[in-house]
Amino acid sequence: MKLFHRTIRDLHQMLRDREISSVELTQSVLDQIQAVGDRTKAYLLVTKELALRQAHAADERLRSKRDVRPLTGIPIALKDVLCVKEVASTAGSKILKGFTPPYSATVVERLEAEGAVFLGKTNCDEFAMGSSNENSGYWPVHNPWGLDRVPGGSSGGSAAAVASGEAIAALGSDTGGSIRQPAALTGIVGLKPTYGRVSRYGLIAFASSLDQIGPMTRDVVDSALLLQAIAGHDPRDSTSSPKPVPDYLATLGDGVKGMRLGVPKEYFVAGMEPAVEQSIRDAIRLLEQQGASIEEVSLPHSDVALPAYYIIAPAEASSNLARYDGVRYGYQAEGARNLIEEYMLTRQQGFGAEVKRRIMLGTYALSSGYYDAYYLQAQKVRTLIIDDFKRAFTKVDALLGATSPTVAFPLGAKTQDPVAMYLNDIITIPANLGNVCAISVPCGLADGLPVGLQVIAPGFREDLALRIAFAFEAATEFHKAQSPLMGAAA
Ligand code: GLN
Repeated sequence: MKLFHRTIRDLHQMLRDREISSVELTQSVLDQIQAVGDRTKAYLLVTKELALRQAHAADERLRSKRDVRPLTGIPIALKDVLCVKEVASTAGSKILKGFTPPYSATVVERLEAEGAVFLGKTNCDEFAMGSSNENSGYWPVHNPWGLDRVPGGSSGGSAAAVASGEAIAALGSDTGGSIRQPAALTGIVGLKPTYGRVSRYGLIAFASSLDQIGPMTRDVVDSALLLQAIAGHDPRDSTSSPKPVPDYLATLGDGVKGMRLGVPKEYFVAGMEPAVEQSIRDAIRLLEQQGASIEEVSLPHSDVALPAYYIIAPAEASSNLARYDGVRYGYQAEGARNLIEEYMLTRQQGFGAEVKRRIMLGTYALSSGYYDAYYLQAQKVRTLIIDDFKRAFTKVDALLGATSPTVAFPLGAKTQDPVAMYLNDIITIPANLGNVCAISVPCGLADGLPVGLQVIAPGFREDLALRIAFAFEAATEFHKAQSPLMGAAA
């Protein structure tokens, strides 16, 4: 086994025992990036010098045994929507080409304080809009389980990096499924925390009432460790919650005995692949064998979550993306004869097709005369979805379902049909609209491709989601399956 195969927890022990150094570990991951990076295309930028500098500093800290934290010396990848001071950050968009933020995101600062090592910026769909990483303004990412397949999106680069050994763990962002769906499609663990649990200061905004940052890891323990490091109130993000952060590791092993777990009947959507459905049903049975009681529940407004999301998210995006005008950040079109032309040319050339589609949809939905019919209506639907979850959580402790109705699909399969692409997120979007938290954990392979089980818990009950996911993981071997790209180097 090579160092890059291991989990944060194992590596932490080895670093602490001085069995390995962070420089050695970081070099092992950088070598893997060198070996397979051309095939996955997971990174937009590898910050090798920064990584080695941080690794040296971590080794100092480990040597002096001063303030050694669970992430000290651990190489981590960051989705390109996260600002890192003086490191190019583009959100996967050409319009931010050449932009280097003057400050770091709060999550980045927190990881720095832990002594983590930054490997670089991972590829993603432009401004996190997409489900396959094919909307990246630079290049698509390839799934380490099958290079002709998508890794999911929008955090496809982070997912592929973790699944190929090009990072030990990564951060992603999830507005409608962008952590969980790529985690499912690449056989890793992805957690979308509750809105407000993790600060978004320094996250390049897509849809501000939905965006959350969260961990993408090899297993549930690592997910808990990474969440522990980034969660908590931040005075610089007014939407971050002052609620205290529990000790996620403390309750991880408490099991599911006596728990009531609900299976929303609406989550077995039309078009779900039979092999995916089979894996999910098997996973549910396994949790029942672990002592949970399983009952069917109904979230009656699930079918309108997707349409509501595709009003609300584009509406917020159209407002957030107004700031990219060629003056303040990144790319500036050449040859404009006046200011208006400069705005127009910059946006025409800088944004990709999907981003333009969303800006148009969103601007339309917010325009006078249509606001009531679309935006306001969608907000009302959102309230119904929040109520669906509240009602379900009076009967059950948490909910179970698939993360994605399909396994990773071939590159190009859905690029001509935006609606088919949007349908990928049909079972991840309700959790974003409903202000709850959710985790995807590997639960099998269908035709050699990973399937993810989604566990949804009430708002600020990440402890519960992690505990259920861990009970499942501890009873199975699915999370140990390695992608061919990672396994090849073993
Ligand atoms: N695929 C969804 C979209 O395109 C979700 C994206 C996300 O969570 N960032 O909007």
